[in-house]
Amino acid sequence: MNNSLTIIKVRGIKIRLHISWLLVLAILTYALATNFYPMRYDFDTVTNWLLGGASAILLFVSVLIHELAHSIIAQKHKLGVRSITLFFFGGLANIESDPEKPLAEFRISIGGPLASLGLGIFFYILYIANLGEYFTPLFDYLSKVNFILAIFNMIPAFPLDGGRIFRSILWAYMEDLKKATRIASNSGKIFGSLLVALGIVLFPAGMWFILLGLFLMFLAESGYKQVLIKFALDKINIKDLVHERPLINPDWTLDEFLRWCRKENVLAGITIKNGEYFKIDLNNLPPLNKKTTEPQLVKSIMTKVNPIKTEDYEPFQLFKEMQNNNISIMPVVENDQYIGVISTEAINKFIKIESIQELLPDTLKSKTTIQSNGS
Ligand SMILES: [Zn+2]
Repeated sequence: MNNSLTIIKVRGIKIRLHISWLLVLAILTYALATNFYPMRYDFDTVTNWLLGGASAILLFVSVLIHELAHSIIAQKHKLGVRSITLFFFGGLANIESDPEKPLAEFRISIGGPLASLGLGIFFYILYIANLGEYFTPLFDYLSKVNFILAIFNMIPAFPLDGGRIFRSILWAYMEDLKKATRIASNSGKIFGSLLVALGIVLFPAGMWFILLGLFLMFLAESGYKQVLIKFALDKINIKDLVHERPLINPDWTLDEFLRWCRKENVLAGITIKNGEYFKIDLNNLPPLNKKTTEPQLVKSIMTKVNPIKTEDYEPFQLFKEMQNNNISIMPVVENDQYIGVISTEAINKFIKIESIQELLPDTLKSKTTIQSNGS
């Protein structure tokens, strides 16, 4: 997620705060300090705010521990975990790839709710230990929200943890990840729409339910799409995605480059200078100097890029990396020779064609082959 700040690293995992997290921290503290605590206890204003702030921060620490539980189990299953981001709706562990086996998915998914359950019990013990008039309400609140987190996450609505657990069981039983994901994703969409409906009934207080419901529906759909994309891309070789594209001349003026783009019907070009690769991408152009009357040269606005070696990547992995880093084009080399480019546009076209072909009955389907010309 962009707009995030890395605050600490745990077991190689970057812990990041998204800008929206500050907003929800402020809203939560405010709601607790002006509503939740004053309605239940007789503290003065300062105490209410201190309790509100401490509760909100410890809630996010709890969410972080929940995400760390997922992440550490994922690492045990040899899956890379880049970061955990705390944002508006809670926490999100960025696990590099999906587990290959249902059992791994089951373990990774159940780890989070179990951690929340453990935290709920831990704070409950602190609550009944009666450590003082200020701590008791704090631990009461924290034990309750952790129990709620554990229960909410266990709802079998993909991509919530419970939905992933549900998918892993279907997957093990049906031995068909695509079908299992479709069913789990539908349950996610149904649950999301129920949340939206509940939010409408409780409006305006239900606003948060509406947002959360819509967010879940979106995630359920995109989670299913990701699986379809993975299946489509797993069928092919990285070289199938390479399209020939002539190299451009770094001494061209910008105007000459634009003319070339028009002729080739493309938005980006690659050039090699002193053995290094550079690209100029109209989707991602550095700010142009509009004041100068001198012609601007391609070499003054091109950016350095590391070419892809065909043997280094699987197509799906490359697609995700380009998507996550907002890269639209990459040069490709084979045996140190430039052979063409891979563009997200070309990958998206391939995925679109595959998704339509999926709809054809099996008897009318041809085997997947793609031609490497044009893009
Ligand atoms: Zn979770």
